[in-house]
Amino acid sequence: MAHRVLILGGGFGGVAAATRLRALRPADDEIVLVDRRDYFMMGFRKTGEVVGAESMADGRRSLDALSAKGIRVVRGEITEIDPGGRAIDVDGERMAGDAVIVALGARTVPGAVPGLSEHGIDIYDPDEVPRAAAALRAMSEGTVAIGIFGAPYRCSPAPYELALLAAESAQKRGAAIRFTVFTPQPMSVPVLGPVGCGGIEDRLSGGGIEFRPGTKAKRVDAGVVVVEDVADVAFDLLLAVPPHRVPQVVADAELVGPGGWVRADARTLETAFPDVYAVGDVTGIAMANGQPFPKAGVMAAAQGEVVAQRISMRLDGGEPDATFDGAGHCFLEVGGGRAMQVRGNFLADPAPEVELTDALPEFLEDKRRYEREQLDAWFGGEG
Ligand SMILES: Cc1cc2nc3c(=O)[nH]c(=O)nc-3n(C[C@H](O)[C@H](O)[C@H](O)COP(=O)(O)OP(=O)(O)OC[C@H]3O[C@@H](n4cnc5c(N)ncnc54)[C@H](O)[C@@H]3O)c2cc1C
Repeated sequence: MAHRVLILGGGFGGVAAATRLRALRPADDEIVLVDRRDYFMMGFRKTGEVVGAESMADGRRSLDALSAKGIRVVRGEITEIDPGGRAIDVDGERMAGDAVIVALGARTVPGAVPGLSEHGIDIYDPDEVPRAAAALRAMSEGTVAIGIFGAPYRCSPAPYELALLAAESAQKRGAAIRFTVFTPQPMSVPVLGPVGCGGIEDRLSGGGIEFRPGTKAKRVDAGVVVVEDVADVAFDLLLAVPPHRVPQVVADAELVGPGGWVRADARTLETAFPDVYAVGDVTGIAMANGQPFPKAGVMAAAQGEVVAQRISMRLDGGEPDATFDGAGHCFLEVGGGRAMQVRGNFLADPAPEVELTDALPEFLEDKRRYEREQLDAWFGGEG
């Protein structure tokens, strides 16, 4: 009997799961991937475009390329998820499957902070990125604030990477711009601990960038972020990482735990509903120290692979044995043609074992190669 697997979301987790499932399942099993967008792009392309180093367009791949590999790509808005029935509504049309993977990511919600939509630019929204790039390019002097307005957020090092690259680019063109980065967290990338964070924060101060931890924004007025307890942050340009939430359709389903993220087992990615899995940014998984597991594309993809194997085993009547090990890395470009890696085992017990490497040209080359090879593996050739 032929089976059908529904994959909700065509980002890192969804595309990795779909590709692996297609390789594992017989041709008459249907692998369906649903997304409102018609393309895939890696998150760091946004930073590249904001600082004028690379374009988002060059990093995009059409999801339709997956059709040639035997994956059914449905473009549309998922308006309802019924996890008990393993079914969804896509633009009003009902679809059901033998297994469901929820890989719908996280969305930014600027409206959660009064004044943020009016006075800041959401640098995590690809539609807003060109405006951020133009505003930065047009500045010859003044203050740029890069503000983190809530945690957890996607790719913890990304706002620091943006600060370092934007400061380098401003310096190169002789613009007299002061940069400030603020976060509500007690240190830059808490999973690294004080020593690792010191490595990032020293780089910020070496680049003349002010770093303000423990800075919780209450609201944004014209030219100033009003914060709790400490001094307000003045700006001429506010580049914002707004608070993150699950997509509304996920919040409306019975999948979300008290923290507002989808409850899933850290190793199996199973939700409370049989044959319904969740991977990537949409999940709320705690590390052994109680902190949230990072929201990163490499992790979402690794989880997608695990879930594909588990589903395939179960469809064949076996007992799934693939589990997610929690290991991975992401890159932090620091300027000067170099990058660092944040890497380790994030699910290690009793605490995550994560380190920050030195800044090396090889790691920047690794980052570029990772993008190239992963895009080719997923979207290139005949598969
Ligand atoms: C600036 C920046 C830099 C980053 N750098 C890195 C990095 O260096 N390394 C790294 O590992 N990660 C990085 N990330 C994080 C990475 O992009 C995310 O963690 C990753 O995209 C998560 O994958 P996902 O599959 O969970 O969700 P996503 O990739 O966000 O995919 C979710 C998909 O679901 C779709 N969707 C949502 N709701 C609906 C709906 N109702 N109907 C239909 N479709 C819907 C969306 O269109 C989207 O395509 C970065 C992120 C940013 C913003």
